[in-house]
Amino acid sequence: MLPIAVKLNDIFTFNIEVPYYNWFYPLQYGEEDLTSFSPGTISLNEVKGVYVHFPFCSSLCSFCPYIRTNIHDANLRNRYVQQLICEIKSYQRQEKPEIQCVFFGGGSPSLMSPNNFSEIMEAIKTVFHISSGCEICVETNAMSLKPELCSAFYDYNVSKVRIGVQSFDPCSRELYQLRATVDDIVYSTKLAHSYDLQVSFDLLFGHHGQSLETFLVDIEKANKLNPDTIEIYPINLLAVPDRYWNSVLSLGLKGLNARTRLKCFKAGRDRLLELGYHQWSGHGFSRSPEFDLIYHRCVYGTLGGIIGFGPGAVSFNSEYIKWNHPSIAQYMSDMQKQSMPTFKIRRVFDYERLLKKIVIELPYYGSCNIEGVEFIPEISNRLSELISAGVVQRNSSDLVLSDTARLQYATLMFYLLPKKDKDVLGQEIFSDCARLGNKFRADMLWL
Ligand code: SF4
Repeated sequence: MLPIAVKLNDIFTFNIEVPYYNWFYPLQYGEEDLTSFSPGTISLNEVKGVYVHFPFCSSLCSFCPYIRTNIHDANLRNRYVQQLICEIKSYQRQEKPEIQCVFFGGGSPSLMSPNNFSEIMEAIKTVFHISSGCEICVETNAMSLKPELCSAFYDYNVSKVRIGVQSFDPCSRELYQLRATVDDIVYSTKLAHSYDLQVSFDLLFGHHGQSLETFLVDIEKANKLNPDTIEIYPINLLAVPDRYWNSVLSLGLKGLNARTRLKCFKAGRDRLLELGYHQWSGHGFSRSPEFDLIYHRCVYGTLGGIIGFGPGAVSFNSEYIKWNHPSIAQYMSDMQKQSMPTFKIRRVFDYERLLKKIVIELPYYGSCNIEGVEFIPEISNRLSELISAGVVQRNSSDLVLSDTARLQYATLMFYLLPKKDKDVLGQEIFSDCARLGNKFRADMLWL
């Protein structure tokens, strides 16, 4: 399963495409004795931001592996918001730590009422000091963004909405069972811009029935709507629910092999660069060369810690990683009974703390500063292999990834992981492949 560096037509790549694209590091496994732990005692040192999960959607998209449900009404959403507020307030201390980012993910946080949103923001303000210029980002379904909510966003200085476009192609939209229309995307983009909100589009590629040409058309159509950033993600076929595979069967679509997917990524990236975008992360492209996201710098970099609220939410700093139980029903029942969600927590090992820059930040951002970083021999050896293959350049204080290697950033993340982590993640990938049987063909993985 270990990826091996190879060259294909002068493009550096690996012999395998690891089909997981982003993960938190340290990995979430194992747990410690929790008897002495409560949110009231967890360290808020280094915390730079907050993640809020809003798990409700109007309908379910076939590819979506996130924690979400389409069974809800306004009463349930309001009850959930009160429980979230209770979880947020359980972190209250005498001193308020200053935060620089708030990220609303889901689900579809655009289904929040303006009142839901302002109540959550006020609860955050009772626990944290929100810095001036704090980055506030909200994931959005084009179908549900409304002027009243944008107005509340404006009042709280929301910086950015992320619209899950995925594709403009009718066949891909049918496969994905997207209920928002292209008109909804056009409307919500204009609406967000009219409230001074930056707009980011998510586009997916590598799914069944897609071609390089249709992906490039998606990029042109996205660009015409003038978003501030475009994120292009390969679909994670190991994580998609059964409804995706049922949709593939009923539409009679053929899968793409890993080599075609890689070509899509390269062509998509080249076109975005031609159109004047700048690559700011493994999958993110922005019109402004200065663009950056503090939330991502915490999760995929080493800027600081995050406290996450809601089912499945992850909290971490350099001392611990904690993850809430992923079930929405369990979260709501826990909050009702004991005002605290079921969670797991463990201490961060020294090697994980030391290596986060190398194993995540370098692949994800294409460079990292290594002043003061201590290497373990296993990682030094792997870095030396990459340096001699011309994939990584080392100058006095930085490691820099070659342009072509950035196309395989997720595989590089896996390649650089220490053996212990690789065994955990590799096991997960093997069991996902086994679960899917022949739906997931070998040529979707091996180049
Ligand atoms: S992709 Fe977004 S809108 Fe679709 S089901 Fe997932 S969370 Fe909901």
